[in-house]
Amino acid sequence: MNQIARKRLETTLERIRTACQAAGREPQTVRLLAVSKRKPVEAIRELHGLGQRAFGENYVDEAVAKIEALGDLDLQWHYIGPIQSNKTKLIAAHFDWVESLDRSKIVRRLNEQRPQALAPLNVLIQVNIDEEPQKAGCAPDEIEALAGQIADSDRLILRGLMAIPAPREDHEEQRAVFARLRELFEKLQADHPEVDTLSAGMSADLEAAIAEGATLVRIGTALFGLRD
Ligand SMILES: *Cc1c(COP(=O)(O)O)cnc(C)c1O
Repeated sequence: MNQIARKRLETTLERIRTACQAAGREPQTVRLLAVSKRKPVEAIRELHGLGQRAFGENYVDEAVAKIEALGDLDLQWHYIGPIQSNKTKLIAAHFDWVESLDRSKIVRRLNEQRPQALAPLNVLIQVNIDEEPQKAGCAPDEIEALAGQIADSDRLILRGLMAIPAPREDHEEQRAVFARLRELFEKLQADHPEVDTLSAGMSADLEAAIAEGATLVRIGTALFGLRD
């Protein structure tokens, strides 16, 4: 077994535990999503061997090839990249979760295309929390309408929100953005009590995200090293 992979996983799980402790939260309330984009299937096999089950991918064709190559393993796959409408059929057929749902047309297509043989698709609404032009994600005031549409879609299950804030170095500034996200999440939960997942925090800001209620952190670099 690769000692570097083991060490990186242990360090990441330790960061999550420490952040939970600081926030007065139980460590099992935060799940780790290993973001394996542009990393080879061997690296995923290795982390699976160390107990990791949930993996995130951003590029549909690359992801489908890996999912098929790793079909012998018990893995949970999350799609976290931008969604082009000509890729929804592949996404609906191969993933367990979609975290980057941000517009009505994609809700409709995924609902129509989710194969009947599979369980309903778990979905998160991606919100463009810093309202950056060109960035994926709906505006905060669009969440409610999308959530209603998803709740009316029988092949989709609304699980919560995902966001990728603009990079900030300062912990308190990172926290302030995640605090705004948490407010949106709590408002969504009030209307949709089934909602249980707040996907926030990456390698550089997982502590701030956990301090503000993240239940799923998406970690690439800290687990796999820098991407090419
Ligand atoms: C690449 C990516 C990550 C992981 O980022 P790191 O900084 O490498 O941890 C998380 N979420 C999304 C949506 C990504 O595209």
